Amino acid sequence: MAATAPERMLLVDGEWVETGDWVEVASPYDGAPVARVAKAGAAEARVAVDAGERAMRNPLPAHKRAEILVRVAGALGRRADEAARLIAAEAGKPLKAARVEVARAMSTYTMSAVEARTLAGEMVPMDASQAGEGKLAFTRRVPVGVVGAISPFNFPLNLVAHKIAPALAAGCAVVLKPASQTPLSALLLAELETEAGLPPGWLNVLVGPASEIGDVLVEDERVRLLTFTGSAEIGWGLRERAPRKRVNLELGNATPVIVEADADVEDAAARCAANAFSFAGQSCISVQRIYVQSEVYDRFREAFVPRVERLVVGDPADEDTDVGPLISTDDRDRVLAWVEEARAGGATVLTGAELENGLLRPTVVERPPRDAKLACEEAFGPVCTLEPYDSLDDAIDRANATRYGLQAGIFTSSLRAALDATERLEFGGVTVNEAPTFRADQMPYGGVKDSGNTREGPAWAVREMTEERLVVVQL
Ligand code: NAP
Repeated sequence: MAATAPERMLLVDGEWVETGDWVEVASPYDGAPVARVAKAGAAEARVAVDAGERAMRNPLPAHKRAEILVRVAGALGRRADEAARLIAAEAGKPLKAARVEVARAMSTYTMSAVEARTLAGEMVPMDASQAGEGKLAFTRRVPVGVVGAISPFNFPLNLVAHKIAPALAAGCAVVLKPASQTPLSALLLAELETEAGLPPGWLNVLVGPASEIGDVLVEDERVRLLTFTGSAEIGWGLRERAPRKRVNLELGNATPVIVEADADVEDAAARCAANAFSFAGQSCISVQRIYVQSEVYDRFREAFVPRVERLVVGDPADEDTDVGPLISTDDRDRVLAWVEEARAGGATVLTGAELENGLLRPTVVERPPRDAKLACEEAFGPVCTLEPYDSLDDAIDRANATRYGLQAGIFTSSLRAALDATERLEFGGVTVNEAPTFRADQMPYGGVKDSGNTREGPAWAVREMTEERLVVVQL
C-alpha cells in the first residue's frame, strides 16, 4: 500500500492551522503525491493581515531580528539535505541545483542579518543653508508596514527567503503566499523562523487560490507593500490594481548572451551549456538566446552542442541528474510547440526537441526567425537559440529586441567592447565573461522594461521595505 502523503498546516498568528480543505502537492517528475497542505482563502488572509498588524505594534529590536535571522541560517545549514530533497520533490529540481539553492538561502539570511544590524538613517547637514542654522536633522528608517509577499515555483526556498528575510530585517511583518505547486519549502522556512524565536504574527504563510489571497493583499490598505516574483502578466496586473501601494516586481526575461570573436570560446560554450539547462531552463535568467560573432560561430557550436548532449536527463532525486522535468506537462508541450514554430519558420534543431522517458531533452535551435517566440519571449524551458552576427552593434540590437530586461551577458577580451555593451544593453544587470544566469544573493538584482521595477538583494530590499522619516530638532 502506498504511504500516505504527509500533511502540512498553515502558519497564521503563530499557530499551525488546518482549514478542513487541502491543496495537493505532487512531484512534477512522476506525479507521486508529496504532501497535502491546508488550503487558505480570503478569510484566513484577513486574519493573517490582522495578525501582522498586531505584531508590528510591538517592534522587535534590531539585534533580536538579526539573531533570529542568523539562527535560521544555521538551522538551514543543519537541515540542508532535508531542504534540498524537499525542493527536489516539490519542484522537480535536480538535487545538485537544489543543494546550491539551499546554500544560497543561507547566504540570503546571513546578509539580511547584516542589514538588520546596520539599518540606519542619515544626518542632514542643516547649517549648509541659512534656514537650517541652529537646527539638527536626521532621518530614521522605519518599517513600511505589513508586507504582502507572493513567490513563484522555481526557487521555492531562496526566493521566499529573499522576501521574508529582508522584511524581518526591516522590521516588517509578512503575509506570504508561495506558489501552490511548491509551498513546502516556504513552510519549512516558517518552521525554522518560529523555532528561531520569531514571535506570533510576524510571519504568516497561506497556501491557496492565488486570486482569493491575492485580492486581500491588494485590497487591504494595511498591506503597505506588495513584493511579487513571477510572470510579467500577473505582476503588472497586480501593480495596476494597487496604485496606492508600493508594488515591487521581479519578473521574467529572455536572457541573451553575446560571444565576441576575441572571447575564450571554449569557456563561453561551457558556461552557456551549464546555464541554459540548469533546472530545465526554469530560471528567470536561464541562458536563452546566444549570439556568436561569425568568425568563431562554427567553433562555438562544435564546443557547445556536444556539451549539451552530455547533460544527464532524468530523476531529480538522482545526484547525477543535470536536467529534470518541467513543472507541468502543459509547459513541456508549450516549449515543444515554440520549437516547432521556429522550425516552421526556417530554424534548424541542432539537438533535442524529443522526449526521454517523458522529459524534454536539452534543445538547441539554430537561426530562429526574428519574430519566433523563442527569439524574443521567455521560453522558461530547456531550450536555447544559437545564431551568428557580424558586428557588435547588430548583436546588441538583437539582444535588446525583447520586451524584457533582467540580465544579459557578453564574452570578450576587449575592455572597450565589454564596457560598450554594459552601457547599451537594456538590462538590469550585465555579466562580462560569465553567463548572465549568475547571481550572488547580496547583488542588487532586478530588471527594466517588462522585467520589473525593483532590485532584490537584502541591502536593496530592506531599503524598499522601510520609509525614511525626517526628524528636525531645534537646538
Ligand atoms: P506565476 O504564474 O506568475 O506565479 C507566481 C506567483 O503568483 C504564484 O504564487 C502564483 O500563485 C501567484 N499568482 C498567480 N495569479 C495571481 C493573482 N491573480 N493574484 C495574485 N497572485 C497570483 O509565475 P511562476 O510560473 O510561478 O514563475 C515563473 C515566472 O517567474 C517566470 O516568468 C520567471 O521568469 C519569473 N521569475 C522571476 C524572477 C526574478 O527574480 N525576476 C525569479 C524567478 C522567477 P499560484 O501558484 O497559486 O498560481
